[in-house]
Amino acid sequence: PNFIIAIDGYSSCGKSTVAKALAKKLHFVFIDSGAMYRAVTLYFLRHNVDLDDTAAVVQALADIHIDFIPNTAQTQILLNGEDISEEIRQMAVSEQVSEVSAIKEVRHAMVAQQQKLGSHRNIVMDGRDIGTTVFPDADLKIFMTASPSVRAERRYAELTAKGENVTMEEIQENLSHRDHIDSTREESPLRQAADAFILDNSDLTQDQQLEIVLNEYYR
Ligand code: C5P
Repeated sequence: PNFIIAIDGYSSCGKSTVAKALAKKLHFVFIDSGAMYRAVTLYFLRHNVDLDDTAAVVQALADIHIDFIPNTAQTQILLNGEDISEEIRQMAVSEQVSEVSAIKEVRHAMVAQQQKLGSHRNIVMDGRDIGTTVFPDADLKIFMTASPSVRAERRYAELTAKGENVTMEEIQENLSHRDHIDSTREESPLRQAADAFILDNSDLTQDQQLEIVLNEYYR
């Protein structure tokens, strides 16, 4: 059957960089589950969905259709047909995404879609609960960590390169805010799976990380 690689960890630990490199090397499909929560958040922001209004949340979820277009240099994510790959990286979305992701109905809808995406092909999926909730039987589970300063510096470089006007302080604040909500929410909180391989990449190059993970894959 198909092979599933789950990569979990806190925000900005470099999960998607490793996941993309791995998917490219192994010819697997890369799926960024965080992008799905970001897409939902963008929709909620645009339509002023009240997060405390369960009926409105459920209605909005029914109106949301998310697609991934792989095989391009950068996987694109579509929200009801619109390419929102860039927009979902903006601070406005980052500031709301953990609140949206903590809503039970949102998680149920996303987890079901993620399981469907991985039901019939080889995938590398990164997120927070992939090895614990989405694919508890994943063939390979990686849990990534990095020091808080390394994480903040990476995120800062990424956002300022895109011309976003953020300070280091705002980034640190956003990362710790998301870490807190992501790991304390009731529904599928961020947890390290008992059988995950732990990769601390604070002092590793991207090539070194890929090599370590490939070693685990071929073991
Ligand atoms: O991976 P990324 O940082 O883009 O994810 C954005 C947010 O989406 C996370 O901070 C978290 O709140 C949420 N998320 C989640 N479960 C996942 C992936 C992301 O709750 N599997």
